Amino acid sequence: MSDTITCPSGLTGRIRGMKVREERILADRKLARAGGQVDQLLAACWEETLDAGPYDFGDKEIDWGKALQGDRFFALLQIRTLTYGPEYAFSVNCNNEGCRERIEWELDLGELPVRALSEESRAAFLDGNRFETRLPDAGKKVWFRLLTGADEQKLPRLRKGAGDRLLSAMLAFRVVEVEGVEARDKRRLLEDLSMRDADFLVDEFDRVDCGVETSIEVECSECLSVQDVDLPFDRTFFMPGKGRTARRRARTASSLE
Ligand SMILES: [Zn+2]
Repeated sequence: MSDTITCPSGLTGRIRGMKVREERILADRKLARAGGQVDQLLAACWEETLDAGPYDFGDKEIDWGKALQGDRFFALLQIRTLTYGPEYAFSVNCNNEGCRERIEWELDLGELPVRALSEESRAAFLDGNRFETRLPDAGKKVWFRLLTGADEQKLPRLRKGAGDRLLSAMLAFRVVEVEGVEARDKRRLLEDLSMRDADFLVDEFDRVDCGVETSIEVECSECLSVQDVDLPFDRTFFMPGKGRTARRRARTASSLE
């Protein structure tokens, strides 16, 4: 079973569904920790590049490390959909303090909104992945970049090392230059930004990016509170059968209470 897909940047290719042999990738804990799982799955199921979109892979095969996060995730969703169909069932804990019930949710992955890479963003990406904006409070110009697969691999370590300074670490990771500021003073300047500027910057990162919207609303059937959750990607995403078993077990357990 194969299908032709066009990713948000215009990258187009032929994918196939996952085979049993990909089990090896899914089960590899070392690979999961290193963040290489997604790359290996994409490499295994991407059969042919038909249009490289904004990327230059030369005459080599596709390099997922160079691909934008939005494209990678989109391709991954399509591979998952081709393999098991578009329905995705998962459960999250209700975030209402007084409730904490398990919320069982099911959605159609094909209905998640997808944002294409705009012409303007494509041009900035081709121009060395440099995006320009101006901070409203500091009044300075800032250049930042969109995240690629290679960056994605570095995120777990960045998060771990950042401790309680995750925001400034993330900003420093993405901001390549600040107007009139030496590279060595960048981190300090970013720590001195007003929260409003930081918030603005994070919005700018999102505004120019492409990809699949993974923030969804779920409603707790117990207390009826509605909450935003980020689509969870645990093992059940690639092995929905295991999720089914876990849900069945949870249902049995709660009916015995
Ligand atoms: Zn609830």
